[in-house]
Amino acid sequence: MMNKSFLLFAVIMAALPLLPTPEFWITLANYIGLYSIVALGLVLLTGVAGLTSFGQAAFVGLGAYATAYLSTQFGLSPWVGLAAGLLVTAGAAFFIGAITMRLSGHFLPLGTIAWGLSLYFLFGNLDFLGKYDGLNGVPPITLFGITLGSGRAMFYLIWFVVLATVIALHNLLNSRPGRAIRALKGGGVMAEAMGVNTAWMKIVIFVIAALLACISGWLYAHMQRAVNPTPFGLNQGIEYLFMAVVGGAGHLWGAILGATVLTVLKDQLQSLLPKLLGASGNFEVIVFGVLMVLLLQRAREGLWPFIRRRFPQKPQAVAPASAPALPMRAKQTGGEIVLEVDKARKEFGGLVAVNDMQFNVRAGEIMGLIGPNGAGKSTMFNLVTGVLPVTRGEIRFRSGGQLQRIDGLASREIVRRGIARTFQHVRLMPTMSVLENVAIGGHLRGTHGDVAGIATSILRANRAEEDALLFEAKTQLERVGLGHLMHEEAGSLALGQQRILEIARALCCDPTLLLLDEPAAGLRYKEKQALAELLKKLKAEGMSILLVEHDMDFVMNLTDRLVVMEFGTKIAEGLPAEVQQSPAVLEAYLGGID
Ligand code: ADP
Ligand code: MG
Repeated sequence: MMNKSFLLFAVIMAALPLLPTPEFWITLANYIGLYSIVALGLVLLTGVAGLTSFGQAAFVGLGAYATAYLSTQFGLSPWVGLAAGLLVTAGAAFFIGAITMRLSGHFLPLGTIAWGLSLYFLFGNLDFLGKYDGLNGVPPITLFGITLGSGRAMFYLIWFVVLATVIALHNLLNSRPGRAIRALKGGGVMAEAMGVNTAWMKIVIFVIAALLACISGWLYAHMQRAVNPTPFGLNQGIEYLFMAVVGGAGHLWGAILGATVLTVLKDQLQSLLPKLLGASGNFEVIVFGVLMVLLLQRAREGLWPFIRRRFPQKPQAVAPASAPALPMRAKQTGGEIVLEVDKARKEFGGLVAVNDMQFNVRAGEIMGLIGPNGAGKSTMFNLVTGVLPVTRGEIRFRSGGQLQRIDGLASREIVRRGIARTFQHVRLMPTMSVLENVAIGGHLRGTHGDVAGIATSILRANRAEEDALLFEAKTQLERVGLGHLMHEEAGSLALGQQRILEIARALCCDPTLLLLDEPAAGLRYKEKQALAELLKKLKAEGMSILLVEHDMDFVMNLTDRLVVMEFGTKIAEGLPAEVQQSPAVLEAYLGGID
């Protein structure tokens, strides 16, 4: 974070109510703060994780109505109202999240629209909530014996919540669960293969965003001292999304910027447009729409990146000079079978991509899997790692001392048992640093579960875990020879280096079996030699490796045994020297050339 700028911002905000600022500006600033809290949740949900919600205003409404109802009807303290609101919101968001997050594509936006609409009409039709008139006479909040009865007093509470939210989310995003959250948009398959439960993670951040909206609603009810359904309708839900997108949906400060720009603009337009057009109406909505289209054409990332450029950037994740080593799995010894592929079959419609394949990998050996393009090697990898389900057949893996079936397990369960992989078509998060990308591989080696991990990260009580993970990531990067590129954006690396990065990330999973899909493609001669040395060293440490590679010199010098595939079928298996002589292999692989 830009610490100096942050302090300056905090000081200016603290001074605002003390200066002779007109009441109107204080009110406007209060609204901006309230909107910012909601928009910050949307930055996490939409900007970072790629999940669109039109229904945030309904969660604001839940927070506002819960406290308004309890305080006006039962005379309960606003703090009880806050607790009740948070509980109800968490329950509602969990329920909605659980049914919509597993569905892909448009179901989430549609689900949140339905939710936003129905809650609005519910608020407006329930007798005990005062129907469309709402509830009046909501008491002010009392804090440390001080009654926050005026706009100026509420200002401090609202902006304290805004800044605390920025810090909390900043801490969260730069942590183990935060890296998993940042991988949700565009990196789902990779994240699952590194052990992240992506469906669960999506539900959790949906709940977090809803809770922030609820807090905003609670503050609103006690600032306004009354609630009615109007500010919690679908219109407002869309405006919240506008704010996040205009400010820069991927950036925390963008939420505040977006809330400011839209609130001020709306206020100005509401007084300007009727004068220009000579009639009153919601014309600002049309102007908003036009501005939105223009903005998305000119600056997809929103406005914040333009401001951010003025500040020097420093890496967010920095590995410590030393840290206690993470616990490691015992490697298999004695050459026993670690992976057993037993008549594994994969059909894509009529195409048999993997045809009853049968082979083993033994502990501490490098097994090569070769064959022409389209032979089914990558599909075989996807079957072993659970990225694709098998059509028929069984796959067994040795964990806990015995061979256990792993076909049918999710890929996050398979990596948990000790199989890590790289992808032929690299799957990394291009805007995250090399170090952060590798650290995603350590997801399962963290000390906390998902929810506890998020809580400790927000409170920054995760330093020991972070240090250990980042140190491990750095160690693996140095091991594969990319230590000097640690703080670069992963997307700026050459393709060959990105493949090596994936090896470091897989090593960060602490596997006993490593699956490498064409790791040497795009490497120069020297880099290939270094990679071969690394694989030999891993083997000497007891790692078992299954290797897909097209460079025959590389394969022949490195592997202990080879399996050859063609059209999904195994056509040969044996020592490299034997396989090289096999007529079937020569025919298939070299196109029959002697
Ligand atoms: P290799 O890695 O040996 O080059 P692949 O495993 O990528 O081969 O592909 C094997 C065959 O399966 C190819 O014909 C490919 O087009 C097909 N294939 C791979 N993945 C899919 C998929 N998800 N859907 C349909 N066909 C696929
Ligand atoms: Mg392939």
